[in-house]
Amino acid sequence: MESLLPLSSGNAAGMSLGELNSLCQRLGEAKYRAAQIFEGMYRHRWRDWNQFSNLSKDLRGRLASEARVEWLAIEQSVVSSDASVKHTLKLADGCETECVYMPYENRATLCISSQVGCAMACSFCATGAMGIKRNLTAAEMVGQVMSLVIHHKHPNGTPINIVFMGMGEPLHNLGHVMDAFFTLSHPKGMAVPPWRVTVSTSGLVPGIARLGEYNPRPRLALSLNATSDDVRSKIMPVNSVWGLEKLALALRSFPLGPDELITLEYVLIAGYSDSAEDAERLSRFAGRFPSKINLIPYNSWPGSAFSSPDEADLNRMGRYLAERGHIVSIRRSRGQDIGGACGQLAFHNRSERAI
Ligand code: SAH
Ligand code: SF4
Repeated sequence: MESLLPLSSGNAAGMSLGELNSLCQRLGEAKYRAAQIFEGMYRHRWRDWNQFSNLSKDLRGRLASEARVEWLAIEQSVVSSDASVKHTLKLADGCETECVYMPYENRATLCISSQVGCAMACSFCATGAMGIKRNLTAAEMVGQVMSLVIHHKHPNGTPINIVFMGMGEPLHNLGHVMDAFFTLSHPKGMAVPPWRVTVSTSGLVPGIARLGEYNPRPRLALSLNATSDDVRSKIMPVNSVWGLEKLALALRSFPLGPDELITLEYVLIAGYSDSAEDAERLSRFAGRFPSKINLIPYNSWPGSAFSSPDEADLNRMGRYLAERGHIVSIRRSRGQDIGGACGQLAFHNRSERAI
C-alpha cells in the first residue's frame, strides 16, 4: 500500500468538515466517517481517538498514527470581579491570542480574536497600538471557542454567543472568519445558531458588502465611536477612507433578515464622543437603518491618551437615545478590571489576579 505523508500539522483540532473529508479520503475511508469525526470532536468534545466510539478500532488506530486532537493551550487566565475570565492562548508558532469567557445565568458569551494585533491603528485601542502580526487561521478561531468551552466545562446544550470583538479586524480576515463560522454553526458540531454569532468591524465598507453576500452569515456590529468625520478620522484612521456617509450607505444596503438589527457600538471617550450634539448625531445616524445601540464607557489603559466619560454624560446619552425610540443598552464592560473588555485584550495589567 502507498505510504501516506503525515498531516503537516499533525493536529486535527479545528479542522473543517472539508478538511476531515480530505483526511478520510487519504486514509481510504468513506466520506461519512469525516462527519462522525466532526461530531465526536465538536459535539462530544472528544480529544482522545479511543473516545471515538462511533469509529471502528482499526480506524481509531490509523487516525492516532496520523494526527492528534490537541486544542490551544491556555497560558494565562485572569478572573474579573464579575466572573468574566480572560485567557491567553499559545499558538503553534509561539504567537499568542486572547479570548474572554463571560458567563451569564442561562448562557455564556465568548469574545474571540480574529488576528494577532490589528492593522487599523485606532488611536484609543490597545490592540491598535500593537500593529498587526498576522491573521489567525479558521482552526485557531475555532480553537479559541473549543478551549473556552472545554476549560469552563460549559454545559452542552446551554447557549453560547460568539462575538468577534477580541483582537483584530475580522473583515480583514473574512475568509478565515467565515470558515470558522461554518464549522462553529454546523448542525453536526457545536451547532451555534448563526444569529448568535456577531462580527464587529471598524467600518471596512467593501468587507461589509462582502459579508452581506454570505447566507447564512453572522450578524453585523459596527464600532461607530464618533459622530463627525472630523473626530472619527482622528481616532479611527479607517474613516479617512470610508467616512460616515459611505458607511451609512453600506449599512443601509446590508441585506438584513426580517427581525435583524445592526448593532452600533459606541464607545464614549471623554471630550471626543460624549456631548449632547454627539447624542443627536448618533440618533440621526442610527435612524438610517434598523439598528440597536450599545453605549460603552471608554476603559483607559496605561499609555492611553484618552479617558473615560463621566457617568452622568453616559446616562444622559442613554436616556436621550431611548426617548428618541432607539433600542439602547449601556455595556458596563464586563471584565473591565482585567482589561478583558472586548477590544482591549492586548492590555496586560500587572495588578491582575492570575489564576
Ligand atoms: N476590530 C473590531 C473588533 C474588535 S474591537 C472593531 O473595532 O469593531 C471591539 C470593540 O472594542 C470595538 O467597538 C472598539 O471600539 C472597542 N474598544 C477598543 N478599545 C476600547 C477601550 N479601551 N475601551 C472600551 N472599548 C474599546
Ligand atoms: Fe483594531 Fe478594532 Fe482596535 Fe480599531 S478598535 S485598532 S479595528 S481592534
